[in-house]
Parts: sequence; C-alpha cells; structure tokens
Amino acid sequence: MSRTAGVVIVGGGVTGTSLAFHLASRGVRDVLLLERTALAAGGTGRSVGIIRQLYPTRETSQMVKRSLAVFQRFREAVGGDAGFVGCGALIGVAPGMRATLEATVATQRAVGIRAEILEPSDAARVEPRIDASGLGAVLWEPESGYGDPAAVATAYADAARRLGARIEQGVEVAATLTAGERVAGVATTRGERIAAPVVVDAAGLWAGAVARTAGVELPIVVGRHPVFVVERDAAFGRPHPVYLDLAGGAYVRPETGDLTLTGSLIDDEARHPMDPERLGDPVSLAEAEPALARTSRALPALARARWRGGWAGAFDITPDWMPILDESPVRGLWIAAGMSGHGFKLAPAVGEHLAALVTGAVPPVDPAPFRLARFGSAAASGTFATSYLG
Ligand SMILES: Cc1cc2nc3c(=O)[nH]c(=O)nc-3n(C[C@H](O)[C@H](O)[C@H](O)COP(=O)(O)OP(=O)(O)OC[C@H]3O[C@@H](n4cnc5c(N)ncnc54)[C@H](O)[C@@H]3O)c2cc1C
Repeated sequence: MSRTAGVVIVGGGVTGTSLAFHLASRGVRDVLLLERTALAAGGTGRSVGIIRQLYPTRETSQMVKRSLAVFQRFREAVGGDAGFVGCGALIGVAPGMRATLEATVATQRAVGIRAEILEPSDAARVEPRIDASGLGAVLWEPESGYGDPAAVATAYADAARRLGARIEQGVEVAATLTAGERVAGVATTRGERIAAPVVVDAAGLWAGAVARTAGVELPIVVGRHPVFVVERDAAFGRPHPVYLDLAGGAYVRPETGDLTLTGSLIDDEARHPMDPERLGDPVSLAEAEPALARTSRALPALARARWRGGWAGAFDITPDWMPILDESPVRGLWIAAGMSGHGFKLAPAVGEHLAALVTGAVPPVDPAPFRLARFGSAAASGTFATSYLG
C-alpha cells in the first residue's frame, strides 16, 4: 500500500461531497474523496434539481425536510451558493389519487412539512397558467423549489476541504480491496493502493460496478431519464413554479434565460437500462414530442415554447425507488447509492445520515427503510411517480 486514509469516499457527486463535508464536520480525520473525472460529472451534473417534499414514507419526508432547511440557509450551513430558488411546487393528482394524497400529506404535516391541498379550481390562485381541469386535487408546497446540483456538490467539496478533507479528481477506483470479511482500502487505475478501514461507495450510476469489485451485488438498475429544454416566448411572462403533473405525466421547472426543463413522469425508467457512459448524450425532438405534448397539456402556454434540445440522464434505481444507505456485507464498505432520482434534494440529509452511521452515532432519521437487506429477492416495482405517493 502506498498511502492510507481514514475513510475513502468513491465518487464526487452531490452524495459523496456532502458525506465528505459531514464526516469532516464530525471531526473525522483523513477523509479522502476520489472522483474519476471531475466533481459533479455524473448524475449530479445532469440533474434537474427539483426539491419537492411529497414522499410516501415518514423517513424520506423527514430527510427532505432536513435537506430543505439546509438549502434555505446554505451559505451559513455549508458556504457557497446552492442556487436555491424557493418558487414553490405544485403537484397535480388524478381524482383517484386524492385519498392517497390526503393520507400522505397527513404524514408530511406530522413531520412539519408545509403543504396545502387545493381544489383544482383554486390552483389558479397560485398559478393561473396550469390546466387543472380533470385533476382530483393540487398540492401546493410553498417552500419547495429547485437548486443547482453542480454548485451544491462544489460547495460541499470546498467546505470539506476547509475542514481538512482531501478531494482528488481524475482518480478512478479500479477495485475495492478486502481482507477476509472486511474492507482494506481501494486500488486505483493508476496502480496505487490506498489502505483504509472504511470505504464508502457513492459512485451513483457506477455504484454497482464499484461494489461488485468487492463481491457485493447491489440491486440497482441504471435507467434512462431524458431531459428536454424549451424556451418560453416573451408572452409567457414571469417564470412558472415547479409543476409536477402526476395525472398527466409531465414535470416542468424554470431555468434562467427563459428556459424550462421538462420531462416525463410516466415512463418506467427501470425498464430502459442505459450505459452510464451515455450520460449527457443529445436527444432528438422526435423523442421529446410525446413528453412535450403532455407538458403543453399541463401548462398550455408552453405549447408556444421553442425546442432547445436536451440530454440523456439516468437514475440509479432500487427495487423500491428509495436509496440504500447502509453497510454492505463486507464490513467497513458502506453504500450510499440507489438514489432513484431523488439524490439531489436528499443530499444534505443523506450526507448527515451516512456520516452518523459510519462513525457509530445514531442518525437523525430511522435507518431501517434504507437498509440493503430490505429487498430480499424483491424485483423492481413501481415507477418514479410512485415515489411520490406510493
Ligand atoms: C436527468 C436527471 C434529473 C434529475 N432530477 C432530479 C431532481 O429534480 N431532484 C432530485 O432530487 N434529484 C434529481 N435527480 C437525481 C439526482 O441528481 C442524483 O440522484 C444525484 O445527483 C446523484 O448524486 P450521486 O453523488 O449519488 O451520484 P453521481 O452524481 O452520479 O456521482 C457519482 C460520481 O462517482 C464517480 N465515479 C464513478 N465511478 C467511479 C470510480 N470507479 N472511481 C472514482 N469515481 C467514480 C462519477 O464520475 C460521478 O461523478 C436527477 C438525475 C438526473 C440524471
């Protein structure tokens, strides 16, 4: 072994950098984050960055609430700018989903999340440009919004460095080393061996490949999720809020330069496996058209928007569309992956949670729903949309 570290984090996305910050904040010495290309080069740099709070479980709701509190005061909590825009989020549901929405919102309120169920006819009070006819209810989350995932990852890395962590870019982990049932460190593609008693696999879309080098199989599928970009015309006026139309199957979030990022909420990404090396590939208007038609039904004024392109994104999807935050069967090898399309908005709480677990402290949120063993032999079920309401 040519050098040592206390904790090696594999992956410099928003998960790995948040964890580096939280470990260093807890006084863990010798945190070393290895990123094979550049910070935020993975899913983080291709994310839409929406921060909504509607989740079907108490624990995920608690996590998103903790994270939102960080985004709202990011400069004081971490340093730097998260690009957080608290424009609010509207979530439209079909009539048949209203009862489930009411039950889920009760869970949310119990953990302190601000959310209001509106009659479809009242949604215009918040955003008159959405077409709420045909919906069963519209949820209004006044504190939600969106942020800048790459900026957040960079800010976490900067803050971790200030606290003594080492962040190395352009260093790829070729293998996770083991000694008996324990992790022993990592080997890089440059032939360097780094001894460490703790290794955290935060490699996002590549997490399965990293874990496999230690003989650990993760139940993660990399599924394609394309993002489409349109430019609003001058008549559109002020930017719209985040709108997630679960009934119609489309979402929109505003971007600077009169742009809107949009995509599908009805595709089952788990059934569209993608090579993560294709991340960021361009997408065609022909592919976008069905999703854009749904976007225009949800927010009709966007029907006049101009096509600006898009990119191929991908999610690291677990069978229940919730993250794995747990030690693997190889002692000392921890998994922070399978973010299933939620990894940006959960990143502050995920880093906090993992840092507690790794250091033997009690995490702020019950860890049971995020354990690796929860799946047994269960196959993937549900879609991205079911991660809102179950
Ligand atoms: C199109 C799209 C839209 C999304 N929209 C939202 C959203 O609206 N809201 C939300 O909350 N989430 C969203 N997400 C999900 C969220 O962005 C991701 O879950 C999150 O950014 C993942 O971060 P990560 O750090 O876990 O993984 P990544 O960002 O993928 O980081 C993993 C890193 O590991 C590195 N790596 C891989 N292998 C190795 C190795 N062997 N050695 C060293 N480094 C390695 C990679 O280069 C990469 O930088 C979206 C994702 C995509 C793709």
